[in-house]
Amino acid sequence: MSARKRKFWGWGYEDGGPSEAECAAALAGFAERFGRPLEAAPPPRVGEIALPAPRVRPPSSLAERLSDDPEERLGHTYGKAYRDVVRALRREFPHPPDWVALPRDEAEVVAILDWCADARVVAIPYGGGSSVMGGTEARIDDLDGHYAGAVSIDLRHLDRVLEIDRTSRAARIQAGVLGPALEDQLRPEGLTLRHFPQSFEVSSLGGWIATRSGGHYATLYTHIDDFVESLRVVTPAGISESRRLPGSGAGPSHDRLFIGSEGTLGIITEAWMRLQDRPSYRGSAAVRFPGEAGFFQAAECIRRLAQAGLFPSNCRLLDPGEARASGATRELESVLLVAFESADHPVDAWTARALEVCRDAGGLLPDAAPTSREGGTGERGGAAGAWRDAFLNLPYVRDVLTRASLIVDTFETAITWDRFESFHDQVIGATRDAVKRVCGQGAVACRFTHVYPDGPAPYYTITAPGRPGGELEQWDEIKAAASDAVIAAGGTITHHHAVGRDHRPWYDQQISAPFAATLRAAKAALDPGAILNPGVLVDPR
Ligand SMILES: Cc1cc2nc3c(=O)[nH]c(=O)nc-3n(C[C@H](O)[C@H](O)[C@H](O)COP(=O)(O)OP(=O)(O)OC[C@H]3O[C@@H](n4cnc5c(N)ncnc54)[C@H](O)[C@@H]3O)c2cc1C
Repeated sequence: MSARKRKFWGWGYEDGGPSEAECAAALAGFAERFGRPLEAAPPPRVGEIALPAPRVRPPSSLAERLSDDPEERLGHTYGKAYRDVVRALRREFPHPPDWVALPRDEAEVVAILDWCADARVVAIPYGGGSSVMGGTEARIDDLDGHYAGAVSIDLRHLDRVLEIDRTSRAARIQAGVLGPALEDQLRPEGLTLRHFPQSFEVSSLGGWIATRSGGHYATLYTHIDDFVESLRVVTPAGISESRRLPGSGAGPSHDRLFIGSEGTLGIITEAWMRLQDRPSYRGSAAVRFPGEAGFFQAAECIRRLAQAGLFPSNCRLLDPGEARASGATRELESVLLVAFESADHPVDAWTARALEVCRDAGGLLPDAAPTSREGGTGERGGAAGAWRDAFLNLPYVRDVLTRASLIVDTFETAITWDRFESFHDQVIGATRDAVKRVCGQGAVACRFTHVYPDGPAPYYTITAPGRPGGELEQWDEIKAAASDAVIAAGGTITHHHAVGRDHRPWYDQQISAPFAATLRAAKAALDPGAILNPGVLVDPR
C-alpha cells in the first residue's frame, strides 16, 4: 500500500480509479445531458508549479523529519474538495506549507509542536488529507504577518494497531493509520472498526475523530464518536489522555472536547477504539415509491423504520434524480435501499419486519422475498460489493468531470422530522434556483445518508456545466446560496463533512455566543500561541 503514489492535485492514487473507458463513458453521458462537448483537460505536473522558498528553517535536530520536497508541499497544500481540485487544475498553489513534517512517533510530534510554538510557526495536523472544508490548508486569512511560516504535520508513519483487548473488544490504534491498513490489521482477529466513510481509502483514524466523520452505515453507529473509548492528544499545554471506560458520568466528556476539534486543540496520536465482530449475515431489499411525490412518502416510511428500533445498517433513500443517476431505476420514482447485517444471527426477521413497515407506508416491495445470506468471512461480494466499489470510485470520476469543467459537488445536513418537508423544499429550491441562475442548467438531487429516530441527514448532489475558467466562482455562489438556505431553515451546516475554514461563516451563525466563548477559552488554554490550525472552528484573533 505504502509504495503506491498519491495524486498531489486530486483524489486518491495515481494508479487508482475506474478505467479510461469508464471515465470516457461518464463524460459522454454528461455531454449528451448538457448538450455540449466535454473534454478532460490535462492535470498539472509538479514541474509546472513554482513554489516560494520556505520562510522558516527548522532546527537541525528536526531536519530529518521535515521535508521541503515540492511534491510533498504541493500534496499538502489542499484537501480533496471540488474547489481544491479546481484550484490545483488552475495551477494555483498560493499557500503551500513551508515544510511537511513526518514524525515517526509521539515524541517527535511533541518536538515538532514545541518548535512550532517557540518559532510562531502554524502547525496543521494532517491525516489522509481528504478534508473537503479547507481544514488542512495553510491559508491564514489576514494573519499571515503574525506567523513566521506553516508546517503540515503528516501522521502517516503512526499507522499501527498497537494492542487488542479481545475481552472488551477494543484496540489501541495510532491516529495516522488509513482505513484499508487499519482493517488489514484487524481482519486476522475477526474484528472490524466498521467505519467506512466514502473517503475510507485515503482518510485516517485521527482525521475521522478530529472531524466527527460519518461512516456509511445508516443508523445506530453513524459517527466515529460512537466508537471512541479513550484518546491521547498532544497539545502545546501538554499531553491529554482519558481513561478507558465503557461509559462515564463524570462531568463534561473528556473525549468530546477533542472529538470534532479539527486540529485546533491538539494532535490526536492514539485512540482506544471500540470494535465489532465482522458481520457474517446480511439481508437487503430495494423498495420503490413511484412518482415525484413518492419521495416524501418514502421519507415518512423511513421515519417509521427509524422509530421502530430495527436499526438497519443501510436505509438509503434515493430521490428520483439520484435513483436514475445511480442506475437503481429508469422510472420516475424514489428508491429505498434497506439492509441489515449481524455477526451473531440471521437477519431475516428484521428484514421481513422492515418490509412490512415499507408496505404499510405505500412502498412497492421486490417480487422475490429477500433472505439473509451467511457470508462466513464477512466480506462483501455480488451486487453489494459492486455497489461499494462504484461508491469508492466516484471521487476518481469526479476529478475527470472536473477536468472537463463540470461542477460536481455535494453538501449535507440534518433536520428533525417535524421540519423535514418544508426544510427540504426550501433548501433544494434555493439550490436549484442558484444553479439555474449561475450555470443556466444543471441538476440537484437528494439522498439520505443517515437516519435517526428524530430526523434524517439529507445529502445533496449538484451537477452542472461550469464556465471554463469560472467554475470556482460559480461553485462558491451556489454553495453560499445552499448554505444560507440550510441555516435559514434551521439545519446544521454539516452533518459529517466538518467545519474547516470554508464552513466557518455559517458555523458561526449556528452556535450560541456562550458556546463560542467557551471554545475560544479552551483554545486559549490548550494552545496559548494559537499555532494549531488557526482559522478553523475558532477565530485566531
Ligand atoms: C470524496 C470524498 C468523500 C468523503 N466522504 C466522507 C464520508 O463518507 N464521511 C465523512 O465523514 N467524511 C467524508 N469526507 C470528508 C473527509 O474524508 C473526512 O472529513 C475525514 O474524516 C478526514 O480524514 P483525514 O484523515 O483525511 O483528515 P485530514 O483531511 O487530514 O484532516 C481533516 C481535519 O482534521 C484535522 N486532523 C487530521 N488528523 C488529525 C489528528 N491526528 N489530530 C488532530 N487533528 C487532525 C486536520 O487538521 C483537519 O482540520 C469525504 C471527502 C472526500 C474528498
